[in-house]
Amino acid sequence: MQSAYIHIPFCHHICHYCDFNKVFFKQQPVDEYIEMVIKEMHHRSEISREHPLKTIFIGGGTPTALSAKQLDRLFEGITSELLTENQLVEFAVEANPGELTEEKLSVLKNAGVNRLSIGVQSFDDELLKEIGRVHRTEDVFRTVHQAEKSGFDNISLDLMYALPGQTVEQFKKTLQTAFTLNVKHYSAYSLIIEPKTVFYNLMQKGRLSLPPQEQEAIMYELAMEEMEKQGFKQYEISNYAIPGYESNHNITYWNNEYYYGFGAGAHGYEDGIRTSNIGPVKKYMENVLELGSAFQSQHQVSMEEAMEEEMFLGLRKVEGVYKERFFGKFNLTLESKFGEQIKQLVHKGLLVDTEKSIFLTRKGKLLGNEVFQEFLIS
Ligand code: SF4
Repeated sequence: MQSAYIHIPFCHHICHYCDFNKVFFKQQPVDEYIEMVIKEMHHRSEISREHPLKTIFIGGGTPTALSAKQLDRLFEGITSELLTENQLVEFAVEANPGELTEEKLSVLKNAGVNRLSIGVQSFDDELLKEIGRVHRTEDVFRTVHQAEKSGFDNISLDLMYALPGQTVEQFKKTLQTAFTLNVKHYSAYSLIIEPKTVFYNLMQKGRLSLPPQEQEAIMYELAMEEMEKQGFKQYEISNYAIPGYESNHNITYWNNEYYYGFGAGAHGYEDGIRTSNIGPVKKYMENVLELGSAFQSQHQVSMEEAMEEEMFLGLRKVEGVYKERFFGKFNLTLESKFGEQIKQLVHKGLLVDTEKSIFLTRKGKLLGNEVFQEFLIS
């Protein structure tokens, strides 16, 4: 147990594609929520004693929707409840462009935050409007420069592609603009239309025009090529970094390792049990107030499920799944468990099988879901 995720479910504006657990900031009991998150962490007092954390990620929602004072209180709580023995290597916070004032940046810096993950999505103002984002390109420039001035050098920009009406040329321009900011890490995810979103409703009504699948594939290939040209190493299907600046926290997930989840709707994985917290803010708070925790479900992961997860999470990484590591975890060889699937996927040109590991080919990265599906046996 070396990682913790903390969820701040408030946003000043709701984006058209978003299916995260979030609510409008206005009229929410934000101060009380922060107190309940701290209480939830306090309830797990074994953490700082028995499992000094290596990574913390605060996500949302939008953590930077909080005021400087609220952020300060949150960090005070995190420090006293989770970091009595501070061995953190990564303390990351998700941020929206335009919301990071100098004051907030200094609160983050003083608390020991050393990585910012900024939700840029696109450098095309028209597209930003289209997908319901409120920031504009100039906000991104201002935010990144301010963050650098405040001493942050580990900055990631999150981009999206295959947006409604987006052309390959437009995405190329976004990438080129992104590179002018000289940050150390980028992620680029294709838009996925999820139920209960504005985009989903538009799609149902036939009023959403998305780029065809071939164009989406071209955009993905373009991202991989351009990142490589600029010296960014792809280390996961959608993530690229200057070596040494990979997201340690996210690697915990892809390595199928344990982590705590705090806050409304947060997920955790503790000692073989996948946990998920109650999503609605008010209910979450009531439960924490009464019980100290707010689990909605606790699922004991069977050995079979753990092996499947090891595969579809591990194969997201460019280095793939190491055979020795798999054996070390499950006391079974990878071949004895998945030999047939591996053989077929190698035959289809989707996987490479070496003495030490298996990993996706370029074609396999494009057809990731087809590969992952093969390892779902239960
Ligand atoms: S995408 Fe981020 S900022 Fe937009 S509504 Fe969702 S959580 Fe909030």
